[in-house]
Amino acid sequence: MTNILVTGGGGYIGSHACKLLAQAGYTPVTFDNFHTGWHDAVQFGPAVEGDLRDRAAIEGALQQYKPEAVLHFAALIEVGASVADPATYWNNNFLGAMTLFDAMVATGIDKLVFSSTCAVNGDLDGVLIDETSPINPMSPYGASKAAVELMLEGYVRAYGLRAMRFRYFNVAGADPQAQVGEHHQPETHLVPLILQTIQGHRDSLKIFGTDYPTRDGTSVRDYVHVVDLIRAHIAAIDYLDRDTRVPLLCLGTGQGMTVKEIIAAAQSVTGKTVAHEIAPRRDGDPASLVCGSALAQRELGWHPTLSTPEQIIGDAWRWHETGHYAS
Ligand code: UDP
Repeated sequence: MTNILVTGGGGYIGSHACKLLAQAGYTPVTFDNFHTGWHDAVQFGPAVEGDLRDRAAIEGALQQYKPEAVLHFAALIEVGASVADPATYWNNNFLGAMTLFDAMVATGIDKLVFSSTCAVNGDLDGVLIDETSPINPMSPYGASKAAVELMLEGYVRAYGLRAMRFRYFNVAGADPQAQVGEHHQPETHLVPLILQTIQGHRDSLKIFGTDYPTRDGTSVRDYVHVVDLIRAHIAAIDYLDRDTRVPLLCLGTGQGMTVKEIIAAAQSVTGKTVAHEIAPRRDGDPASLVCGSALAQRELGWHPTLSTPEQIIGDAWRWHETGHYAS
């Protein structure tokens, strides 16, 4: 069996990667410090509990499992928390990535897929974002991801790593079989917050801003189903064997949805009302982030097929109904 090392395999996106890797015939090996990841999300292969900043731990895992590639998801992801405590974000996201890349170079593991984010682009005034869009992060979170992207360029050139960087837009939804799903503590993301409100775990959803220059005044995001997103990663493992000329791809659908439209879709899918109230804009939130993914379609043959609001919310709802998130 071919091993793939999944950093952050206990997290939301990492655990879905492990499931889809196992379905594709790989053995996913989770490497996670379980500070924000969950032990019960690791169901599809072995786990190593360790911190990426611990060089001996990550190098030991690479030596033991000799993975064909590394999918690097492990990171802190909250924009607001990064503004309040940038040192923690730089230490975790930058130093963690650097230690991982150094350990890969030292052990001769040379294939890498890195999770980056549209937060590296900052606010682009509603234009359709693509790989050529300027880098202008608005938070230490975005800056730490941008810095890792730039670090990788040098490592690829100097040390022969083969690396794909994916910039994610709004990843949402869950495994259609509800074995794994989205579970953050604390939760800050729109879709799970809506569903938790419907379930009565929250009194009401706050809509952050109704005065944006968008079609209904609420902010617009490009929501990608987590399974579609992971399919691009699995395609990239093969892609890097035949081509490394395009090392950066944006993964979005080209279709933006407002907060109010997502609420309406959730009400229609679940048949329940979402109690909500209007709140001020959240610091650092751009009005609109939508991405063209023509390049990902051309290079990887990537076509998102599950990224409709109905499918995203339906799958997330099934996961929420399992009661897992409350554990
Ligand atoms: N949002 C909201 N209320 C919430 C959480 C999010 O109105 O309780 C909005 C937020 O302003 C953004 C969109 O929903 O425009 C998606 O936010 P999320 O935190 O899910 O992802 P982000 O865009 O920050 O990566």
